[in-house]
Amino acid sequence: MLSAFKYRIYPKPGQELWLKRSLLSLCELCNGLRAKKIEEYKQHGISLTKTGLRALALEERRHRPELQTIYSQVVQTAADRVHIAFSNFFEGRARFPRHKHPRKYLSMTFPQSGFKVNPQRGLYVSGMGYVRIFVHRPPLGRVKRLTIKREAGEWYAIFITEGDAPVKQPIDTVAENRIRGADLGLEMFTTLDNSESVEYPRFLRRSEDKVNALQRRLAHKKKGSKRWKEICFSLARLHLHVKRQREDFQNKLIHRIFSENDVLVLEKLDISWMLKNHSLAKSISDASLGRFIRKAIFKADMLGKHFIAVDPWGTTQFCHNCLAWIPKGLAEREHICPSCGVRTSRDLNSALLIKRLGILSSSPSDGGSSLAEPGPLPSLRGMVSLGAEAGSLRF
Ligand SMILES: [Zn+2]
Repeated sequence: MLSAFKYRIYPKPGQELWLKRSLLSLCELCNGLRAKKIEEYKQHGISLTKTGLRALALEERRHRPELQTIYSQVVQTAADRVHIAFSNFFEGRARFPRHKHPRKYLSMTFPQSGFKVNPQRGLYVSGMGYVRIFVHRPPLGRVKRLTIKREAGEWYAIFITEGDAPVKQPIDTVAENRIRGADLGLEMFTTLDNSESVEYPRFLRRSEDKVNALQRRLAHKKKGSKRWKEICFSLARLHLHVKRQREDFQNKLIHRIFSENDVLVLEKLDISWMLKNHSLAKSISDASLGRFIRKAIFKADMLGKHFIAVDPWGTTQFCHNCLAWIPKGLAEREHICPSCGVRTSRDLNSALLIKRLGILSSSPSDGGSSLAEPGPLPSLRGMVSLGAEAGSLRF
C-alpha cells in the first residue's frame, strides 16, 4: 500500500528563487504543451499521446536554459500532467483543461530519482542542492517518489512510500464489543453505538468565522490591489490552518476509534441525497464527512483493522431493537418505539442500526467492503417489513 509522508523544508533565499522560477517555467511548459496539443488536433486531426507530449517537453528542455536546471524526469511529469488533464476531460471526470495561472501551479514531482536524504545535511534535490528538512517522524516503507509543494508561502517535501499492509484479523473472529457502528451527522460529528458522541471542536468554528470575516473584507477591495493581495495571502494561510485543524481532529478521532476497536461500520455517503439538499453549509460538511470516510478506509488498511460500509437507506426510520418502522422528520431528535418501548436519541438509534447491519455483513466471504467496491451493501431493505404506505415512501 502507498502512504504519503509530508515534511516541511526550509529553502535558503537563493533556493526559494530557484523553486519559484522552476515552477513558473514548468507552468509555462504545461501551457505550451496544452496549446500544442489543441493545435495539432485542429490542424492535422492528431491527438498527441503521453509519449508524444513527453518527447515534446524534452525537446523544449533542450532549447530553454531555464528548464535545463530542472531534473529531466520532473519535466516529463509536467508533460504527464497535461496528458492526465486531457484524459480526465475525455473520460468525463473534469472540464476541458484550461490555461493555468502560475499562481495555481504549485508543485513539482520527482518520479524515481533526483533526490536523496542525508541525515546530516538534509534533503538533496537535483538542481537545488541540499535543503534543510524537518523530519518530525521517520517515513515508513520504500520511498517511491518525491513532490515539492508550495502551500501559502511555505514549502513541503512529500514522500510517497510503498510498504506492506499489516495482516488483518479475520473479521468473523472479532468480538462484538470490538465492532463500532457510527452515525455521521451535521450537529454531532459522529455518534457511536456505545452512546459516545463527538462534536466538531469549537476552535475549528472560530477559525471558520475568521475566514468568513476576511472573505467579506476582501469583497470590498479592488481586485489586484495591494490590500487585496495582502488579504488573499492571509486568507490562504487561514484556510490552510482550518484544513489542518480539521485533518488533525479527524485523524485523532479515527486513530482513537481504531485503537479501541477492530471494526468500524459507517454509512455509505448517499450522493443523490446530497445533491437534493444542496446548500453551502451542507456541502462543506458533506465534503468533510466524505474525507472522514476516505480516511477511515485508509487507516483501517494501515492499522490492520476492518472498515464496513452499509446502505444508508432507512437508518433513521427504523427501531434498532425490533426493526419497527418509526418515521421521523429531520427535527425530531428522539427515538421512541411504541412496539418495544425503546427510548434513545435519534443518532444513537442510527448508530446501533448501522452496527447491526455491519455485523450481518461480517461473514468470512466479505473481508471489509470498501466504498470503491461495487455490489450490494448490507441494507435494511429486505430486512424490514413495511406497510403499504411506508413502501411508497422515500427516505
Ligand atoms: Zn422497537
